[in-house]
Amino acid sequence: MCAMSNKLELNGMTLQELENLFLSLDEKKFRAKQLFGFIHKNLVTNLQDVTVFSKELRESLAQFADFYTLEIEKRLDSKLDATKKYLLRLKDGNIIEAVYMESYANNTICISTQVGCRMGCEFCASTKNGFIRNLSVAELLEQIYTVERDLDKRIDNIVLMGIGEPFDNYTNVMKFIRLINHEDGHNTGIRNITVSTSGIISGIKKLTDSKLQVNLAISLHNPIQEEREQIMPIAKANPLSELREALKEYQRTLNRRISFEYVVLPGENDSMEHVKGIRNLAQGLDVHLNLIPLNPIAEYQRARGDERSIPTFKEKLERFGLAVTVRRKQGIDIEAACGQLRNKYEAYTR
Ligand code: SAH
Repeated sequence: MCAMSNKLELNGMTLQELENLFLSLDEKKFRAKQLFGFIHKNLVTNLQDVTVFSKELRESLAQFADFYTLEIEKRLDSKLDATKKYLLRLKDGNIIEAVYMESYANNTICISTQVGCRMGCEFCASTKNGFIRNLSVAELLEQIYTVERDLDKRIDNIVLMGIGEPFDNYTNVMKFIRLINHEDGHNTGIRNITVSTSGIISGIKKLTDSKLQVNLAISLHNPIQEEREQIMPIAKANPLSELREALKEYQRTLNRRISFEYVVLPGENDSMEHVKGIRNLAQGLDVHLNLIPLNPIAEYQRARGDERSIPTFKEKLERFGLAVTVRRKQGIDIEAACGQLRNKYEAYTR
């Protein structure tokens, strides 16, 4: 149900749910597939635009159903690259952020999964204003469709790396992934979707059971339990030893490579001890390590090292046989980089 109008949100419904709806209205089942296509391929936001339906059918549906849409509060265009950051207003007035990025190969969007976040990672802006609520399925989807409509471009790659912890909103996130992946709808390849988690073990186990072939990224940031707890409070309830076991089981079942995300904090998590810790953690797992330069946020002021810090750490890791890449920095001038997204609009009105 839509919070504001109390109407059914057609764009958050699965094909099956739409079929049941049409059957309950004594309409033909195929109407559901037609509507599903209009929502997820034509990106309609209005029943009037579902031109394959009769006027009577559109009007009778409109009495109790509509579409949940987001408003573009503001768009910030990077001057350095094609990155665009969207501040999107939800129907309840909350603001979330999504980031659009381009590479030679594809158009990618980084979406938020919650309003705020309760994980409390020291270095991340998304958690600094606390947690407000989970995003609904329609709110997850509409981040993509709003940007596609605005830019008149097709987005083919989706990363759940914006504000929030995807596994703290597991049910809606999974329903969203199945919807956007549906072959009668947007048809985003399942392997073009990446879920990033701070390491919520229960979520990894549920994902394993679901057998969904999305890419899984784990925000590691430190292979030493005590040190990890200091920068990521969530690590206490999700210890590395258990995380490793859950990842092993994940790979036994799904046979997919995992990536570890690692914000490099020079002098804090890039010593030889950390290299060995990462190697031990990765032993027997098929892992790819993604190094992220620390993106500055006001609440976490740290030495960011010099331009040699990351390459030096990368070389050390590679000498231990690890596969390592450094994440390309995009949209840094509009605070669109990893960890810089926040649900506090005031930050941009200054
Ligand atoms: N909650 C999920 C999704 C957030 S993804 C998760 O933790 O994985 C965002 C990625 O950016 C995570 O790997 C996060 O740890 C990282 N990140 C957070 N703050 C950052 C910062 N200031 N600089 C660089 N990366 C940061």
